[in-house]
Amino acid sequence: MKKDNKKQYIIPIFVPHLGCPNDCTFCNQKSISGQMKEVTKEDVTKKVEEYLASFKKGLEKEDIHKEIAFFGGSFTGINPEKQEELLSVAYEYVKTKQIDSIRISTRPDYINKDILKLLKKYGVKTIELGVQSSNDYILSKCKRGHTFEDVKKASKLIRMHGFKLGHQMMVGLPESTKLDELNTAKALIKLKPKMVRIYPVLVIKGTKLEQEYKTGEYEPLTVNQAVERCKEVVYLFNKKNIEIIRIGLQNTDVITSPDNENSEVVAGPYHPAFGQLVEDSIWYDSIVDKIKKINVKVKEVEVIVNPEDVNNVIGHKKENLKKLKDIYEVDVKVTPDEKMKIGKSDLKILKVYTDFKQDELENEHEKVTK
Ligand code: SF4
Repeated sequence: MKKDNKKQYIIPIFVPHLGCPNDCTFCNQKSISGQMKEVTKEDVTKKVEEYLASFKKGLEKEDIHKEIAFFGGSFTGINPEKQEELLSVAYEYVKTKQIDSIRISTRPDYINKDILKLLKKYGVKTIELGVQSSNDYILSKCKRGHTFEDVKKASKLIRMHGFKLGHQMMVGLPESTKLDELNTAKALIKLKPKMVRIYPVLVIKGTKLEQEYKTGEYEPLTVNQAVERCKEVVYLFNKKNIEIIRIGLQNTDVITSPDNENSEVVAGPYHPAFGQLVEDSIWYDSIVDKIKKINVKVKEVEVIVNPEDVNNVIGHKKENLKKLKDIYEVDVKVTPDEKMKIGKSDLKILKVYTDFKQDELENEHEKVTK
């Protein structure tokens, strides 16, 4: 993933779209946003004040970017008075320079010139569109209620009006194949988003998808399948330097393991560190690639990376190191080095198979002569 060294603090405000007229088969907006009541301007103030108070003291303002993000529903689908009520509170913080920017997420068919004018008036800088797929058949299977043409039109309008454009796509939608997802990523790249979010589909309680899952009509991806499919899409966005700001739904009290009794997740590729699994897998591929390019059989290598990448190289529960040992018989030592760029690595050979044989022979010799 492309990473920015500048620290970014997001103050998330979930706005459940209780009156959403749409009926996307995978969505139960009330569960995803983790609350049922309508958000008021008092709620926004309370949340922002809490976050501002919790930000670490001593951090210089220029080091961090603070943003209020209205997530959850389709922000521009709620009535304009409500939008103004919430935005006006957020904008006060921007005007007093306590907050740097505001972002919202919405549907592509809830974007037009008047809506953009309103968002501009209240200092919104970033608009994220829920796209999900570029395939109209898949969109209609999920009852999204819009086509990819709407995504194209909305994306163009958003960029023309000077907003930063973000896209959200899903992996593992009903009838979607790996090829459909690659095509979606390619189609989005053409629309020039600044950032993307990638969500593997989870089956949420109370949704149409849950019924389809129970009748066997829909079969969710496994965690491994979802990681592999997300990874392919990540490669495409990385190639074009499009920032990937999230992979996988945020864990909450209700978006948690299906084994947990409070969980709203019925099935699907849930993992508490899903995004990390994808990044780990990308690092694994990159190390394997480097090892395969070496002409001799290596026994031990050192991978030098930026400290921020160390955990991903090692992998969740040291999975990458274990796999490299099991499959390629290579011991990997991971060394952090501030001088390395994030996402880049150097690989040094510490021991090749012949050295190892030599060591073994010497050990044997020592044992015999002792
Ligand atoms: S995904 Fe968005 S548009 Fe679809 S039902 Fe949920 S809130 Fe409505």
